[in-house]
Amino acid sequence: MQNGAAAESAGRTSKGGRPRKCYDHLIGTVHHFLVIDRIFRRAQNEPYAATTCTRCGTHTECRLRNILSGHTKSCKCLRPEQYVTNIKVQADRLPEKKVPQIWSMQFSGAGRWAIAIEHKLAVIVVDFALRRYQRVLDWIINTGRALIMAMLAVTPQVHEYLRKAECRFQN
Ligand SMILES: [Zn+2]
Repeated sequence: MQNGAAAESAGRTSKGGRPRKCYDHLIGTVHHFLVIDRIFRRAQNEPYAATTCTRCGTHTECRLRNILSGHTKSCKCLRPEQYVTNIKVQADRLPEKKVPQIWSMQFSGAGRWAIAIEHKLAVIVVDFALRRYQRVLDWIINTGRALIMAMLAVTPQVHEYLRKAECRFQN
């Protein structure tokens, strides 16, 4: 990953002389906590960037020049209360089957970073989803429903975990 200043000057030399400056070389670069996913134009041809925040995974759009100048550093999650809200929103947005898959990767020995990369999520969102799903499984086990839920389990790992937990619960 290149830093913003280097990427920008490289672009200026290679794209010089065009009537409309091209910023495509900035796609994929990281600026503070923002990765640029896409660049587009709004009113008066003003370039904007669609970004993903590396702290919490939130997608936002803002003026490209504010990112390059460092004025915009994150999706606003640098405010602690916003950070917590964003992580919950990201975790809530995970498709229903994805959470058991994430949990199963961890159960099979994968680390949180590997899981985050595989599912294209911020690590903190993975942590949050894992904790929440673990609470669901604990609740299932503690209310004596592990065997029933094991039959319905989305992944073999969840099935195995619930079945074993039920044995422990009964003994
Ligand atoms: Zn963020």
